[in-house]
Amino acid sequence: MRPIVATISLSALRHNLALARARAPRSRIWAVIKANAYGHGLARAAAALDAADGFALVEIDAAARLREEGCTKPVLMIEGFFSPGELAEFSARGLVTVVHDMEQVRMLETSALAAPIAVYLKINSGMNRLGFHPPEARAALERLRACAGVSSITLMTHFAGADGEAGVAAQLERLRALDFDPALPRSLANSAALLRYPETHADWVRPGIMLYGCSPFADESAGSLGLKPAMTLRSRIIAVQALQAGDAVGYGGLFTAPAPMRIGIVACGYAHGYPRSAPGFNGRGTPIVIGGVRTVTVGRVSMDMLAADITRIPGAGVGTEATLWGEGLPADEVAAAAETISYELLCALASHVRVVEVE
Ligand SMILES: *Cc1c(COP(=O)(O)O)cnc(C)c1O
Repeated sequence: MRPIVATISLSALRHNLALARARAPRSRIWAVIKANAYGHGLARAAAALDAADGFALVEIDAAARLREEGCTKPVLMIEGFFSPGELAEFSARGLVTVVHDMEQVRMLETSALAAPIAVYLKINSGMNRLGFHPPEARAALERLRACAGVSSITLMTHFAGADGEAGVAAQLERLRALDFDPALPRSLANSAALLRYPETHADWVRPGIMLYGCSPFADESAGSLGLKPAMTLRSRIIAVQALQAGDAVGYGGLFTAPAPMRIGIVACGYAHGYPRSAPGFNGRGTPIVIGGVRTVTVGRVSMDMLAADITRIPGAGVGTEATLWGEGLPADEVAAAAETISYELLCALASHVRVVEVE
């Protein structure tokens, strides 16, 4: 059996969803399961998150699979459709679609659909990624209201800075200034807004990362938020090297032993989704847990291997378990060391890594 394995905890997924529910008790929940449920497996995550009110994702093939596997819940397509053919498929599968530009409005106006479709009118309130600028949003709303292919309209926006200093105030103010019909339902909050800004909860919240047990915030840990990691990536030591002072480790010799030391070679590398940017310099390694003891990586991450300092873990040797992230080592900490975010680590889990589901 290959030593590397990702464990997915179904009870952690359920726990995190219940926490989202408790924090936004008056809102319905779109559980965001784009990108193969942030690397956790689409069908697995959808089953574990069955208590959600609906699922939100990007990929049309994933939405089709959900429907084919018998999912009858609302499904929101957060980038919308890209052609009249996709729009027809959305309608046939009963998907809810985001509409973020006039070309999509035009396709709605000119398509004869099997059944009218529910739309989320996306407003660009400051993220400047997708959505109608406030001046165009009113025209888009009027056209959607007049469109026979549209069964309902919900207003939507996405926050650029709910996780940090910027907060949500400026974007909320731009939305408020639009003075849209208060009877229109609204969906605004991602995980960060859900957790920090109750004023954004509205009718539907859209948590993603928190469901997987990671924190959207750099300054607040998942544990302190009450979240439990859903994915734990583990492997084993497959070789041990005894180094003399001055010996270098790995490609480029980024790390040099300052004194005699032992290192364990762990069967995990960037081919499995571990970030190559995770540092392993002298004095600046990336956290890793070996045999239950926290230590750091040394040297550059290779395709299928990385090295960890086990000098102070005398019991560690070939076969000792290594935790790359998850239970006992938050993915957020590994991500921070690698100057990225936990989202990227989770999504990058390679499809060839064996996955084991646990309660
Ligand atoms: C990905 C995404 C979310 C979820 O964001 P998290 O930060 O993971 O909670 C919500 N809304 C939209 C539009 C998204 O694209």
